[in-house]
Amino acid sequence: MTFTQLELTEPLQKAVQQAGYKNPTPIQSQSIPAILNGRDILGCAQTGTGKTAAFSIPTIQLLSRSARKNGQKPAVRSLILTPTRELAIQIGESLAQYGSFSPLKHLVIFGGVPQHSQVQALKHGVDILVATPGRLLDLMDQGYISLSQLEIFTLDEADRMLDMGFVHDVKKVIKKIPAKRQTLFFSATMPDAIVDLANSILNNPLKVEV
Ligand code: AMP
Repeated sequence: MTFTQLELTEPLQKAVQQAGYKNPTPIQSQSIPAILNGRDILGCAQTGTGKTAAFSIPTIQLLSRSARKNGQKPAVRSLILTPTRELAIQIGESLAQYGSFSPLKHLVIFGGVPQHSQVQALKHGVDILVATPGRLLDLMDQGYISLSQLEIFTLDEADRMLDMGFVHDVKKVIKKIPAKRQTLFFSATMPDAIVDLANSILNNPLKVEV
């Protein structure tokens, strides 16, 4: 399979080319068409499989399809929740790379640093928000983030999220996002607690295991 067969739009094809990728990895070739068709995903994949691109590339393509009007402030239409600051930063770098020919704005927020610059960036509006759970809830409670326009919710490294004790926070976030949405769920392992969480938030997902 080649990237051309994935029916990516020109800006994404160019970004993939620029990244030097020849062929999609298995998680990408299975997930990208389904995500572009609006399907929920339950992906069992480790880091290193190309899972970040598997959710980032179609997210950028889907959100670019209904680009906001010129001058209009973007609303958060995609939320990517991830357990650690390092992962959040990596995902932000991937979004910058794959989105380099697309007009979307993304922002990475995490705890352990002052919130001021994050709040300033939020005030300008973002399309894609990458966040760790604690800081996200904190800024939501302060009224700096609205998720009422959310279309795509991605939960990355769900098993690590649980191991790190974030299960309550994740459930709190899920209560605050629209029920009508697309959900992309990724975990390296699938213990019972993860299967239960997945079942409670996914709608007829495509199961992808690599
Ligand atoms: P990830 O599993 O998302 O952490 O990605 C692991 C690494 O694989 C990253 O450094 C990506 O840049 C790289 N990568 C992702 N997709 C591809 C691809 N289709 N071809 C070659 N490298 C890739």
